[in-house]
Amino acid sequence: MTLQERIDKAIRNVPNFPKEGIMFKDITPVLEDAVLSAEIVKEFVAKVDGEIDAIAGIESRGFLFGFSIAMALEVPFILIRKKGKLPYKTISHKYDLEYGSAEIEMHEDTITAGMNVLVHDDLLATGGTAIAASELIKKQGGNIAGYSFLVDLAFLEGAEKLKKYSDKITSLISY
Ligand code: AMP
Repeated sequence: MTLQERIDKAIRNVPNFPKEGIMFKDITPVLEDAVLSAEIVKEFVAKVDGEIDAIAGIESRGFLFGFSIAMALEVPFILIRKKGKLPYKTISHKYDLEYGSAEIEMHEDTITAGMNVLVHDDLLATGGTAIAASELIKKQGGNIAGYSFLVDLAFLEGAEKLKKYSDKITSLISY
């Protein structure tokens, strides 16, 4: 089986979570398979294209593989979290959701101007979350060096929206 087939087999589809009509891609069975998870990290590392100075992981599932990739590349890992979760001084970015709005934050001392930051999350859907993370990184003077996702829900065309920040978009499996 290819890595892609093994990831596909491990991901659990949970219908109607967290709301009616959503097919949730549950990656927790992937995490229970340490051998598969280690190969996933290796594959992410192999696919890194160009200069990366840091990886920014998006709360919370973006922390799982994101931190491992950062350690393998020996670059800093930056946490992007929902408002109110980070203890030190933060900068934030507010963005619109389908209904209402959300705000994300990172510590203000994590990025220096000109740093090349790879944005990582478990899954790309509409792209709204990754775009908000990109805006936050840009506010601090960082460059978006690319994106990596375990899963791309390609039918939602999120990648199209990310291209204005970087066209280096990696996903290990798409649906
Ligand atoms: P979006 O901003 O629409 O690209 O949504 C991406 C964020 O929402 C990621 O942090 C995902 O973890 C989560 N997400 C959205 N849709 C799904 C889904 N169908 N299955 C699992 N996670 C999802």
